[in-house]
Amino acid sequence: MRYPFASTSLPKRVSPTDGCSAVPSPRFVPWEIAFDIDGVVADTMAVFVEMVREKLGIADFSKEHLTEYDLHRCLPSVAREALDEILWLTLSDEYTLRVPPCPGAPEFLAKLSRYAPLRFVTARVWPESITRWLYQVVPEVPREAITVVATGDPTAKSDVLREMGVRVFVEDRWDTCERLREEGFEVVVYDQPWNRRGDNFLRVSDWREMDNLVRWPSRR
Ligand SMILES: [Mg+2]
Repeated sequence: MRYPFASTSLPKRVSPTDGCSAVPSPRFVPWEIAFDIDGVVADTMAVFVEMVREKLGIADFSKEHLTEYDLHRCLPSVAREALDEILWLTLSDEYTLRVPPCPGAPEFLAKLSRYAPLRFVTARVWPESITRWLYQVVPEVPREAITVVATGDPTAKSDVLREMGVRVFVEDRWDTCERLREEGFEVVVYDQPWNRRGDNFLRVSDWREMDNLVRWPSRR
């Protein structure tokens, strides 16, 4: 079922500074939204970039260089094994806890938690470390209000979301966005250098923009 406010004719880029006509009406209610974590709530690649600088000595490397989801294509001169090791470290338990949240994400999630449970579906294989990370990012949210499902496979997200009764998903991986849309979900692309392609997805650059897309209950 499509939400009555949903429309495909809205502008691709949504910004509160775009002017009244470009700002869409809030359209998603809190209890129908779920989130990817890495690259959406967690600025995971900030850790990756830092390690590329330190361990590989590429001082001017930045997240803007990550224009592909396949990291080997972003750093073709670096040995595959070296890059795999850095990626493995980035996703390790120890480094996961050092990942900074995307700006505004903790505030948004804390606000959302007042109206709905927080639900996350990640393609990570193991949920434990990223769940602990979430607990530390939103310490005010009761742990029983946070659900994390690790599918180990991005293509498995749609089944999980359907079972959860989720209709709207915020995601940064392009292929996953396309797949979920094909399967009837409303997708919000969280803008990252690796997902900037011509598209007609609803796209947010930060959590303030996401806040504007939520139809918050007037009183609670
Ligand atoms: Mg992601």
